[in-house]
Amino acid sequence: MEDSNKLKVELERTKIELKILYEVSNAMRTTLKLDEILYIILTGVTAHTGLGFNRAILFLVNEKEQLIEGKMGIGPENGEEANIAWTKIEEEKMDLEDLINVFKNSDAVLESGFNRQVRNLKVSLLDKSENPLSLAALEGMPLHLTSQAILKYHNSPVIKILGSRELLLIPLKAKDRVNGIIVADNFITNDPITKDDIHMLTMLANQAGLAIENSQLFELTVERAHSDYLTNLWNHGYFQFLLQTELEKTKATKNSLTLMMIDIDDFKIYNDTLGHQAGDKILRALANLLRNQSRKMDQVCRYGGEEFTIILPHTDKKEAFLIAERIRMDIQKYPFLNEEIFPNQQLTVSLGIATFPENGLLAADLITASDKSLYQAKNKGKNNTYCG
Ligand code: GH3
Ligand code: MG
Ligand code: MG
Repeated sequence: MEDSNKLKVELERTKIELKILYEVSNAMRTTLKLDEILYIILTGVTAHTGLGFNRAILFLVNEKEQLIEGKMGIGPENGEEANIAWTKIEEEKMDLEDLINVFKNSDAVLESGFNRQVRNLKVSLLDKSENPLSLAALEGMPLHLTSQAILKYHNSPVIKILGSRELLLIPLKAKDRVNGIIVADNFITNDPITKDDIHMLTMLANQAGLAIENSQLFELTVERAHSDYLTNLWNHGYFQFLLQTELEKTKATKNSLTLMMIDIDDFKIYNDTLGHQAGDKILRALANLLRNQSRKMDQVCRYGGEEFTIILPHTDKKEAFLIAERIRMDIQKYPFLNEEIFPNQQLTVSLGIATFPENGLLAADLITASDKSLYQAKNKGKNNTYCG
């Protein structure tokens, strides 16, 4: 009798496990956006209808920089907050799909204090003895830290932030490569982490690793499709899209926006003398310089040939003029290869500026206006900036 009861309980649990795995993998199939995928995974780990952990963090492995980086953390900051959130979920009978919709429609999750702390976490991938994240990543095995084991890692930043008494780390895998780690704990209820929990989270992790890889490949493909092959700046098509989008934002916030058009002076002479491959090298070097010299919010694009555009949001004509002059002088100073071939023995550019709203209200008007300004800059003898 006792045996059959035990079997019943196990069967019931397996049923719930399958349901949650099914729901999470279904949800992951509805999107390719990395942020949404991460949220779905973490909701599966923490939701009461899911695995029911109190708190969970997702880290991604950055192989290029040999780092493990915190990407998203979900969970209340204290018991009181936990109560409010969990009661609401229960009362409103929110399921996984409802929670995902809340995420899509608000920034609350991303703006939580816990999530901010998580996003600042970066640890070395190779530091096995000092931090449990790299141990889990390098061994590719679940790591269950009990209170004793946690003491050993008291210096690790993730242990410091979480302050948990018991912790579970599960690596995420795509094929045989570890591409992330889920860290979960029960810091409020102090429920012990069981073998079943580990088993379930491992199954979820196998799905999650593949979903993350798909999403990363998709994002890479989209980025490539928007980039210019030679310079890796945004290409012409994406420039048009960005200008349109930035203009709409500018109109909504009653701000100004400046479009800058940049053209190399006498580039034909350089190409005719040294060939197009040498010219291409110059275009790449100039693109890097523009990328490095522009602000984070500015969008640097290759308009075509040897013409570049920079979209400067929140920037009026006066400020844009100062930025343009700084860029012009930086370019003049930069030692480009074989630049003695140019008429002035150095590579220079001319810049044309047009600002919304005074020089045009539509994207096409701003492009025409900045082009006209550029023409004026050339007319005035090149190597200068002209404002429309
Ligand atoms: P200006 O000062 O009036 O701008 O003179 P310019 O010679 O730079 O202007 P023009 O527009 O007559 O010539 C642009 C030259 O840029 C033509 C071509 O040799 C070169 N060019 C355009 N696109 C590329 C490219 O993708 N690679 C290389 N290497 N050269 C390019
Ligand atoms: Mg040109
Ligand atoms: Mg030119």
